[in-house]
Amino acid sequence: MAEAALPVRLGFARRPPPGLAWAAPGLRPGWSEAGQQIPLPLAEGALAAGGRAMAALDPAAAGLALDLRGLGAGLALDVLSGAVLRAAEPAKPRPLRRRLVALADDPAALRAAWAARWPELRGNLLARRLVAAPANRLTPRAFVAALSGLRGHGLRVEVLDRAGIEQAGLGLIAAVGRAAASGPYLVTLALPPDPAGRAPIAFIGKGVCFDTGGICLKPAEGMETMRADMAGAAACAGAMLALALRGARGAVAVLPIVENAIGADAYRPGDVLASGSGRTVEVVDTDAEGRLILADAMHYARTRFAPRAIVDVATLTGSIVIALGRHHAGLFCNHAGLRAALLDAAARVGEALWPMPIGQSHREDLASEIADIKQCAPAGSGAWGGRLLPDACHAAAFLESFAGDLPWAHLDIAGVDLAPPEEEAGEEPHPLAAPGMPTGFGARLLAALDVSAAP
Ligand SMILES: [Zn+2]
Repeated sequence: MAEAALPVRLGFARRPPPGLAWAAPGLRPGWSEAGQQIPLPLAEGALAAGGRAMAALDPAAAGLALDLRGLGAGLALDVLSGAVLRAAEPAKPRPLRRRLVALADDPAALRAAWAARWPELRGNLLARRLVAAPANRLTPRAFVAALSGLRGHGLRVEVLDRAGIEQAGLGLIAAVGRAAASGPYLVTLALPPDPAGRAPIAFIGKGVCFDTGGICLKPAEGMETMRADMAGAAACAGAMLALALRGARGAVAVLPIVENAIGADAYRPGDVLASGSGRTVEVVDTDAEGRLILADAMHYARTRFAPRAIVDVATLTGSIVIALGRHHAGLFCNHAGLRAALLDAAARVGEALWPMPIGQSHREDLASEIADIKQCAPAGSGAWGGRLLPDACHAAAFLESFAGDLPWAHLDIAGVDLAPPEEEAGEEPHPLAAPGMPTGFGARLLAALDVSAAP
């Protein structure tokens, strides 16, 4: 799979070339040619303004002149970034790649600033492209091949296949991936080590290329979106690409890549699985596979890389969408400094996180009679009955128990990996992605972390 290219034909100029639509903040004199004129309302934020201008562009237009003259350098760069991101068409067989001309008082300076920003956007676009790929094309094997292609950017890539996973004792990943024709794999992407000798920060991403739910089969309605159940792994890969292109050091990504399929050898509710850490897990619901593969990946990261902190990213639970909707990802964290660093990075890139709790009762709900821990709370627990409503908190409590005493954060991105679909009432269209399309959420956020300084 070819890596994401710039989704527009980008130019920089002092004066607008003829024949393009024109987007400008406010109404500004000095433009005489008749053509589509698009307002650039900066109040919602510069990234969103650029995205909305691109979304408003007439489908038949040759391109857009984005008037950034008179704006501060940071503001201009954000507007331009928003327009470029919104122009991405990762699922289109024939993307338009229209012209985008950034008008600036000093085009050379904006071009130089753009070159420094591009790695972060390229990471986001890689994540979107991976998420957009359907599961018959992005099989676990194909995903691993795409990740192996990142070697060319200075990332060290290691791959454990099924035999390697079993040999390493990663019984949770082995069980979840057992019934699929392809996989399971465990892929690690590593930047060069920190020159000061600090331990790396480890990103863990859920890479379920397709999630049927397993024997606890999902309903058919909406199941097609389960091709996006690897968005956490894609976000981590995008962040690692951005960091590598910027020459950063001291981060690793550990990505369990599986398909949660149905078959004669599929794992079952009621099974007791041995995890890599040695603790046993009672399976309650085969559709809660994400926390299982993440737990083994966290254990592998700890023993293989001795990281100083772990951040996992996963489309983990439906209940986080019920709690937070489609504008915030859930942030669960056991460390104040790491929480602050993530919230700061999230604010800088405009990918919103909202802190969520793990209570003692969530931990106690996972007590098992037949194993060291239960994978989900039993049906009937929680104020409303059923295990679905507080499931995001129970999932986080499960993962937390595999983090040990390490600073750890978990981003549940199940509501924000795809832009809200057109038919979803009461939602503003996503400013940076077409309706229903991947957002690449998490790639820019993790790339914005100062990996050499973050706790
Ligand atoms: Zn599932």
